[in-house]
Amino acid sequence: MTAIQETPKHQKAKALKPGSRRPAKELCSECGLCDTYYVHYVREACAFINQQITQLETQTHGKSRNLENDDDLYFGVHQTMMAARKKQPIEGAQWTGIVSSIACEMLTQGIVEGVVCVQNTQEDRFQPMPVIARTPEEILAARVNKPTLSPNLSVLEEIEKSGMKRLLVIGVGCQIQALRAVEKELGLEKLYVLGTPCVDNVTRAGLQKFLETTSKSPETVVHYEFMQDFRVHFKHEDGTIEKVPFFGLNTKELKDIFAPSCLSCFDYVNSLADLVVGYMGAPFGWQWIVVRNDTGKEMLDLVSDQLDTQPVHTEGKRQPAVQQSIPAYDKGVTLPMWAAKLMGVVIEKIGPKGLEYARFSIDSHFTRNYLYVKRNHPEKLEAHVPEFAKRIVGQYELPE
Ligand code: FAD
Ligand code: SF4
Repeated sequence: MTAIQETPKHQKAKALKPGSRRPAKELCSECGLCDTYYVHYVREACAFINQQITQLETQTHGKSRNLENDDDLYFGVHQTMMAARKKQPIEGAQWTGIVSSIACEMLTQGIVEGVVCVQNTQEDRFQPMPVIARTPEEILAARVNKPTLSPNLSVLEEIEKSGMKRLLVIGVGCQIQALRAVEKELGLEKLYVLGTPCVDNVTRAGLQKFLETTSKSPETVVHYEFMQDFRVHFKHEDGTIEKVPFFGLNTKELKDIFAPSCLSCFDYVNSLADLVVGYMGAPFGWQWIVVRNDTGKEMLDLVSDQLDTQPVHTEGKRQPAVQQSIPAYDKGVTLPMWAAKLMGVVIEKIGPKGLEYARFSIDSHFTRNYLYVKRNHPEKLEAHVPEFAKRIVGQYELPE
């Protein structure tokens, strides 16, 4: 007798219509889950409706972070951290292309059948277009950050329908939290997750405002990054780099451009990925790698012969700079450019470096975001802010 297979409940659900109001309302980060029938799970899965990082850490890594260990508190569960860069960087990647290289190896070695990543549309270099890449060329076409909210999970329905069993997903924290929450429903034998840190993301319109307010030539910017030298580096089409000091940014104008989801996010370091590749805990020009579990180690090992590596280091003291920046940001203070440049030079010389720079960035964003949630969604504050973030924010004096 053959067993009758029941259709999973979620397959009977219907994706929400494009542009319709999402269950997380203004806090929606457009992660893509609601564009699929997995919207069935949205009340449990959405990072902005049901913050559950601790439970999902245990599900994914076999334990949650140890709040008494300073590195765990800040960077999440991990086996090792290091600085690395590709011996031969990938032209046009955000940094040296470690993310794209790992994805290409996983596909060409047959470890996975597909890779969820995000290309851009033909018309607009910054408009995200999530895809399931099945060739290295398709992965490479997704290299470089799309610094906009991106519905990476919108392709999930396609995966279950395709019968794919081994998958790599590349994504940022909010996407990965929702992904982990529905992981068991995807019908996969093995899911690999390669994460990047993420902060201060914007809608496409917000990005335009940022470029126009901050860069001298907004239309030629191909990528940008908030660098460890306390400057935003804009790379232009002709290869030139324009540097603008953080302290000279027009905070009053720019305060409104960040997406409300990103102003209420406390998963900067992508706690639920198997492997995280960023830059902020590494020396300038290097990438920062956090191996969270055995799966992450397996992924990194695939490219170890393509990398130069060095141990992470930490230098300086971040707290005074963070404490000073809290009221300045809150009041929207913008320094004159000469003063901003001078301050940038001084801070670069004496300021936090390596892991301490990463902590500086986490502290600055968590304090800002804590105030945002407290003022705009007070009813969510207690449950939405994870315990580790409460401890981090608790080190500082905050305005009301
Ligand atoms: P590449 O080989 O160029 O590959 C980039 C990958 O990122 C591609 O596979 C693509 O699919 C994926 N991707 C691009 N845009 C998005 C998106 N919007 N959502 C999901 N996936 C995307 N690192 C830090 O250390 N500190 C930060 O503050 C920080 N902020 C970031 C903010 C954003 C919005 C993003 C997308 C990333 C951020 N990162 C940050 C990560 C960092 O900028 C690099 O992406 C990372 O170091 C990988 O570089 P790479 O050269 O190896 O990537
Ligand atoms: Fe849906 Fe994702 Fe928006 Fe939450 S963040 S409402 S899961 S699309």
